[in-house]
Amino acid sequence: VDKSSQRLTIAIQKSGRLSTESIALLQACGFRFSLHEARLLAHSSNQPVDLLRVRDDDIPGLVMDGVVDLGLVGENVLEEVRLERKATNISYDFTRLRALEFGQCRLSIAVPKEDNYQGLADLQGKRIATTYPYLLQNYLQQQGISASNAILTGSVEVAPRAGLADAICDLVSTGATLEANGLIEKEVIFRSQAQLIQRPGSLPAAKQAIVDQLLPRIDGVQMAKE
Ligand code: ATP
Ligand code: ZN
Repeated sequence: VDKSSQRLTIAIQKSGRLSTESIALLQACGFRFSLHEARLLAHSSNQPVDLLRVRDDDIPGLVMDGVVDLGLVGENVLEEVRLERKATNISYDFTRLRALEFGQCRLSIAVPKEDNYQGLADLQGKRIATTYPYLLQNYLQQQGISASNAILTGSVEVAPRAGLADAICDLVSTGATLEANGLIEKEVIFRSQAQLIQRPGSLPAAKQAIVDQLLPRIDGVQMAKE
């Protein structure tokens, strides 16, 4: 990415639960894109705007490092990366421009159905499998509970049955995955939706002008949907 470029670069999830609505929102705001499956970068045909399509986990860091100008990402991933960077002394500055009305989900702690779970104190000294170690520890610390993490990048829900952990902390939408794995949701630790974020520092005037045009359009699109 050419940082001196006057084209506004927006990072979105390449393929996953945020992709369709991220592109739909930008298109509804008047940006035209032709997306080629294999390409990382997509140029708008009617505005000096480029889309960078990446894994959602990479979006907060790309924005915080100023590699891209804007990013659309779930607050869960944003907050996890922010906490991780804060703990490891990497800059975690960014500006939140808008909360977006899609990507709603919650991060919850679930335990095996057969456990006689009474409350958070039952997790004291236990091991909890998660892909969100910082959000989990941040929450447990606030609640005065000390538990250890089993950090997995996927298949978190099978960890208790596999003997890797006593409980899990994972994103929940319907609860069907938990149910299928003999788990039951007990504590919601974080509620999330997609966010539009901007890199730290000021943008060159040409890019700022596009952002100034984009924000009221987003508000209009979101208002129309209500
Ligand atoms: P990637 O390959 O980009 O890393 P992923 O597998 O981590 O993808 P997805 O499952 O596509 O991620 O979820 C992306 C984001 O969508 C989540 O981090 C969360 O913010 C949001 N999300 C999760 N579950 C739902 C849901 N049921 N409905 C809407 N949004 C969701
Ligand atoms: Zn991801």
